[in-house]
Amino acid sequence: MNDHAMNLQACIDDLGTLLAFDTTSHRSNRPLIDWVANRLEGQGYRVMVQQAPDEDKANLFASIGPEDQGGLMLSAHSDVVPVAGQNWQSDPFVLREADGRLYGRGSADMKGFIACMLQAAPHFAASALKAPVHLALSYNEETNMGGMKQLAAALAQTAHPPRACVIGEPTSMQVVVANKGAAIYRFKVRGFEVHSSLRDQGVSAVEAAAQIIVRSQMIQDRMRQDLRHDGFDFPYSSIHVGRIAGGTAHNITAKDCEFMLEIRALPGRAAAPFIAELKLWCEQELLPAMRSIASVSDVQIEEITDSPSLDERGNNRLARAMMPLCACHATGRVSFGTEGGILQDAGIPTIICGPGQISVAHQADEFVEISQLKACLHYLGQLRGQLERDPSCFF
Ligand SMILES: [Zn+2]
Repeated sequence: MNDHAMNLQACIDDLGTLLAFDTTSHRSNRPLIDWVANRLEGQGYRVMVQQAPDEDKANLFASIGPEDQGGLMLSAHSDVVPVAGQNWQSDPFVLREADGRLYGRGSADMKGFIACMLQAAPHFAASALKAPVHLALSYNEETNMGGMKQLAAALAQTAHPPRACVIGEPTSMQVVVANKGAAIYRFKVRGFEVHSSLRDQGVSAVEAAAQIIVRSQMIQDRMRQDLRHDGFDFPYSSIHVGRIAGGTAHNITAKDCEFMLEIRALPGRAAAPFIAELKLWCEQELLPAMRSIASVSDVQIEEITDSPSLDERGNNRLARAMMPLCACHATGRVSFGTEGGILQDAGIPTIICGPGQISVAHQADEFVEISQLKACLHYLGQLRGQLERDPSCFF
């Protein structure tokens, strides 16, 4: 073991501490942020805690090394998805080790990576880095990505914003260079309630919603004729309705119907134009027909989140420099949303690479393999060495 060998057991212990902070997105992440901020301050990091505008949550941005240049950012989200309704074998907020796996909510997504960053932190601090390292933690990644939107906007205003970023979402330590966008919209349809025996005097919000959904599937058909990218399992942009609720009885025209529509846009495409198209169709075709029966009829479209895709045309150099450090031979593309596109849109080339598998994220008995943490620690050690020798390959 050399001076910079990182301690796997200490990393596992830190993961246990991180899991014990219940940072489910609807709760405050401040206890975790404050714990990390304290620790990094003690190691000489310049720590900024950025308070959310209207919630008791915060981003953390901690820097070490030269102050007169941009450097490399390592980033993780601090929040986790809820465990409600899931059947866990053990307490999801208490680390359980079995068969080389570490179980707990967020172990893969993405507190395993945070534990690795914390383990690497004092080694970065003790090194003669030729470019600074920034460790970032965001809030609300799992809901609306509001944390990273706030942080990226602030970074873009600084004299020396980071010049590259690695987000440690679980990719089994492979370099992911592209992901689809993630947009969610809530549609609220208002009809007019009458007994169904008088149906020509009523407007069914359920039937109107159904028409919008059929329209959305026509858009899906067109997406299949549009841009194709074979790097993704489903090689097109996608539009999907996964949840709907409406109506009160079989014999009443439904007054209300609400559904959630999701768009995963390929790099090079955005969700907003598709939503604009649906909105226009509602205004020009659907609503006039509904309002000719009942003027109260309405369709409201509310954006829950819309985060841009990560486009591999913006991170070639960074990906090439990172691949040998994590023994990755081929870059990947994923269909799940990440904060990468937000950073890239802010002018910071970004790749995704972290320990664990996305397939166990958000599930009961989520886990990260100890071997993955080990691989991540090794990678961060390699990264540290490169930042001491010659960081120019990253930028
Ligand atoms: Zn995640």
